[in-house]
Amino acid sequence: MRKVADGQGRELSFIQEDREEDADFAVILAEGLKKGQEYTLTFEYGGDDAVVDSGGGNYTLAARLTWYPNPSSSFDDRATYELTLKTPKGLTMVATGQPLGESEEGGLAVSRWKSDVPLAVAGFNYGRFKKSVVQDDKIKYTIESYANREIPDFLKGIQREVEVLESQGVRTATTLGSINTVGLMDKARGEAQISMQLYTSLFGPLPYGRISMTQQPAISFGQAWPMLVYMPLSAYLDGTIRHQLGIGNSDFFKYVAAHEVAHQWWGHIIGWKSYRDQWMSEGFSEFSASVFAQVVYKNEKFIEFWKDQRERITTKNVQGKRPSDVGSVYMGYRLNTARTGYVTQSMIYPKGGFILHMLRMMMWEPKTGDARFSEMMKDFVKTYYNQNVSTQDFKRIVEKHMTNEMNLDGNGKMDWFFNQWVYDTAIPDYKLDYRLDAAENGQVKLVGKVTQSNVDDSFKMLVPIYLDFDGRVIRLGTAGVQGNTTTPEFEVLLPRKPKRVMLCYMEDVLCTTDNR
Ligand SMILES: [Zn+2]
Repeated sequence: MRKVADGQGRELSFIQEDREEDADFAVILAEGLKKGQEYTLTFEYGGDDAVVDSGGGNYTLAARLTWYPNPSSSFDDRATYELTLKTPKGLTMVATGQPLGESEEGGLAVSRWKSDVPLAVAGFNYGRFKKSVVQDDKIKYTIESYANREIPDFLKGIQREVEVLESQGVRTATTLGSINTVGLMDKARGEAQISMQLYTSLFGPLPYGRISMTQQPAISFGQAWPMLVYMPLSAYLDGTIRHQLGIGNSDFFKYVAAHEVAHQWWGHIIGWKSYRDQWMSEGFSEFSASVFAQVVYKNEKFIEFWKDQRERITTKNVQGKRPSDVGSVYMGYRLNTARTGYVTQSMIYPKGGFILHMLRMMMWEPKTGDARFSEMMKDFVKTYYNQNVSTQDFKRIVEKHMTNEMNLDGNGKMDWFFNQWVYDTAIPDYKLDYRLDAAENGQVKLVGKVTQSNVDDSFKMLVPIYLDFDGRVIRLGTAGVQGNTTTPEFEVLLPRKPKRVMLCYMEDVLCTTDNR
């Protein structure tokens, strides 16, 4: 920090210890503050660690949240920003806010950005980018994609090793010599556009009007700021190249764009009040990616998406713990310890997603589909527009829109659901015993009962039953069950014999069962 001044231009003292000692920064004001009065402080500072040159016009943002003075590094305080960014010519800046134009000044490229909507964070990405853009008139949104014209040094290094081997007569059978990230830049843009359309119709519109998908040198993660998404470089590589680089070919790459775009809603327009409520930001973004999977990759992939999430939650980690047993989503990131393992991605993301998925499945109706669920989500976004929410705020919205069938306690409350799934850790097991008897006029009588176990006496749930008519799957209805018990036998007359009868075919309930 070079200088801090107040609104009257008076220079103020400040405290800035060595960053290894105490990274917090404090200003000593000339006099005490009066409640309700506005004050202005001007900071003049510099440093060279915010951006790391990764080679070939690729830059890695190092100081993501702390490159400008702000009262919080946890996205919980919103402000409007005006940025003027100067870079060497030939590099492209992409920032949060609306672009106010570009110019040249003293041999530097200057771009200006302004946000009228208060944002939780301001930032930029830059590099020697190629840009592609589409205007979506239906949702009135500009969707851009930026990919680097050249690959970063660490990939060039791998290419050189391959070249050396091949010059020595070793046939490597790789295609790594031709790596580029520009070829798939329109895919990132397309995925962003589909995600924006889907989420706008399901959750309601956003005020930003633009989103930029931008490449970063990092391989394994993306990050979302308002209007600006950092995409992992690996998402711009095709499966063959990823395989040759040993990055793998998991579904992460299929859904990373959809997940990051969803954070425009979950994390930015709807923030979180405390770390206990952060499960909604990641969980709802995972949930949103499942909707993308359902529309883009069809129902089979949708079911597989939730099966993968369930397995992440219920498969023992190297510490020997089932992530679901470590703690509730409400306990948040403090559950990550050496003894329990890192449960953010194996529990908070997927179980947070499942909580919303279970609500969607309970609210789904054959005639209106997701209409009721969508109404609830739009109400949630509208009620808490550009604010931070608590888990209890969300619960009240669910109670406003719940169906009669969800009213298991008869009091119009969803405590039963939140107590079990948000504040607690149980994963129920279900068993379906059934037989199909011949009935009059060629009909078939289904006689069955459902058993719930691995829960406490108060645990209750609606368990969906599905019929498989040679690949055509129909939801028959739900069985309500409480505690470690078996329901009374039910009987249903069916027009013809189904191939099989199943529970939770759509992964409707986060559970274990052999009857899927
Ligand atoms: Zn996320």
